[in-house]
Amino acid sequence: MNAPLSPRVAAGAHAGPVAGASAAAASAHALLAQAARAAAQAPAAPGLPPLDLAASALNPAQRQRDLARAQDSVADVLVIGAGVTGAGAALDAAARGLKVVLVEAGDVATGTSSRSGKTFHGGLRYLEQLNFRLVAHAIAERDLMLHTLCPHIAWPEAFVFPLGAAWERLYVGAGVTLYDLFGLRHRAVPRQRHFSRRGLKAHFPSIDDTRAAGGIQYYDALMDEARHTLAVARTAAGLGAAVISGAPVVDFLKAADGAVQGVVVRDADTGQRHTLRARAVINAGGVWADELQRLAGASTFRVQPAKGVHLLLRGEAIDAQAGILARADDSVIIARRWYGQWLVGTTDTPWDRDKGRPVAEAADVRYLLDNLNRYLSRKVTLDDVLGTFAGLRPLLKPVEGQGTTSALSRDHAVLPGPVGLTTIVGGKYTTYRRMAEDVVNAALAGPGAPPAARPCPTAQLPLLGATAWASLRDEAPRLARTLDLPEPTVRLLLGRHGDQLAAVLAHAAEQPALARPLPGAPRVLGAEVCHAVAAEGARSLEDVMVRRLHLAWELPDGGDAVAPQVAALIAPLLGWSAEQTAAQVADYRAFVAGERAALAALRAEASRPATASAA
Ligand SMILES: Cc1cc2nc3c(=O)[nH]c(=O)nc-3n(C[C@H](O)[C@H](O)[C@H](O)COP(=O)(O)OP(=O)(O)OC[C@H]3O[C@@H](n4cnc5c(N)ncnc54)[C@H](O)[C@@H]3O)c2cc1C
Repeated sequence: MNAPLSPRVAAGAHAGPVAGASAAAASAHALLAQAARAAAQAPAAPGLPPLDLAASALNPAQRQRDLARAQDSVADVLVIGAGVTGAGAALDAAARGLKVVLVEAGDVATGTSSRSGKTFHGGLRYLEQLNFRLVAHAIAERDLMLHTLCPHIAWPEAFVFPLGAAWERLYVGAGVTLYDLFGLRHRAVPRQRHFSRRGLKAHFPSIDDTRAAGGIQYYDALMDEARHTLAVARTAAGLGAAVISGAPVVDFLKAADGAVQGVVVRDADTGQRHTLRARAVINAGGVWADELQRLAGASTFRVQPAKGVHLLLRGEAIDAQAGILARADDSVIIARRWYGQWLVGTTDTPWDRDKGRPVAEAADVRYLLDNLNRYLSRKVTLDDVLGTFAGLRPLLKPVEGQGTTSALSRDHAVLPGPVGLTTIVGGKYTTYRRMAEDVVNAALAGPGAPPAARPCPTAQLPLLGATAWASLRDEAPRLARTLDLPEPTVRLLLGRHGDQLAAVLAHAAEQPALARPLPGAPRVLGAEVCHAVAAEGARSLEDVMVRRLHLAWELPDGGDAVAPQVAALIAPLLGWSAEQTAAQVADYRAFVAGERAALAALRAEASRPATASAA
């Protein structure tokens, strides 16, 4: 069970200089404090007050407070599921001036929203399906993220499409030209670039140029999606939403006529059940959405989970100045640079096991390596793989006789029923903001739903960390010098925390060692671990290692070795005993072993012939 944090840590936002620090370090802290102040004073969006930064800090004390206030009053809108769709709906409703509660069974972004391809993209493949409207919308959202909503978390990234035959240049080029045209409004990413065979080899030295007659480069945006979803949820909290993680919905509160009037959650810490009343309930339960709808008394669709696997490769595995998108056996294979490493995906296979723990299997790893290697002169091997993760897409199936087929055939579906409950399912990460607007509009159109104070303002509402980020964007070299950290580390810090970096470094005020990289995890500061617990709602070692700092996927051992050190930093903040701390480490190691079982099996298989011949 989580104990309350000390007030200093719970407040989590002091921006004073590190004790005994040099004048140079003090100037870095002053710069960061200035950005934090600017963020605290700017209106959240035109016509809105500033974000309440203290309220945006998620931690055990806030969770208790929010649980209590959610029981004491009737919410205008209660959202189930803090993936990007649910967090987006909570932010949308809070920004419209409504009283909002967001409940999540596990951690924020614990489902598909931390296990995706991490790309805000228009979707070249939708062009092949002639779905121009969807592509135009997705590109508009991609560009909105890059220039207004979260430029600290998302960045433009180049992809090369290798051309198998000369005629493809015309076909693919036409699609990429449309892509460019849809992006003209914001010009948030550079335009296409064409390469000859030789030009492509110079740009992408790892390419097998016997297979590629040239290439076309286009841009999309990459991001850290678990942190993005967290920023959406924290921004909602900063606008007054109650955010309660570790609170699975186990039942619905219903009127005599079956109308939904709220939910019953089970507190994962205490096991107690609590009733939370609401005038409108939104079901954003991802691959669990059909189960939730059934629990509420309706059954208009089924979800068939489809698994998609990604591999993380070490940065040296591929020599290239751009990512690659190319045709694969079933669909496309994409490799993109992600924080100096390569993220390769994805697969598409049915999954009927535990929806909470999808994992890569040996066949998935082989499929990804084989399809990527079709395009590479220097083949990628198992030795290049740092980690792997799997996520689930909710494929929708109508229930016979319910007449919902047309609704389900769209990219995302907003499904009413029973009265008082509105379900949103499907879609893609990139368009979460529009999906949120759709589902909140639908929920507010239901009988007894509250009126909103204003129309949806989220297109002009930067996420937490973005408001004053422009003042820090070009300061990485200066901050690196004055904080005595490598510049790439400072860039990562700015990307993870934006204009809230001062609050992170404040954890080092009394323990300067926390302002240094963790031994064994050189891209992460000890202060970030503390901040994850004090302000980012992390409640377990897994929350910190996987979704806050993604050490589980970046470190070759999955973070196995560094886990006790990270747990030791968390323990005093969450009041863990020695036994609880050891249990957290054991649970985390079991999680890592499960995630990496396929890799371990493949490596064992690969080493067998060598062992046999040596014997
Ligand atoms: C392999 C893969 C790659 C992808 N790549 C991309 C990409 O690059 N770009 C893109 O735009 N899209 C991508 N997508 C799609 C995108 O990731 C999803 O559309 C998006 O993350 C779905 O978010 P969600 O909030 O709907 O679902 P989820 O993130 O799964 O959230 C649902 C939440 O509901 C919670 N929940 C469930 N039951 C309960 C309950 N009873 N009580 C309380 N909470 C509950 C869960 O714990 C979970 O946190 C990808 C998808 C996959 C599978």
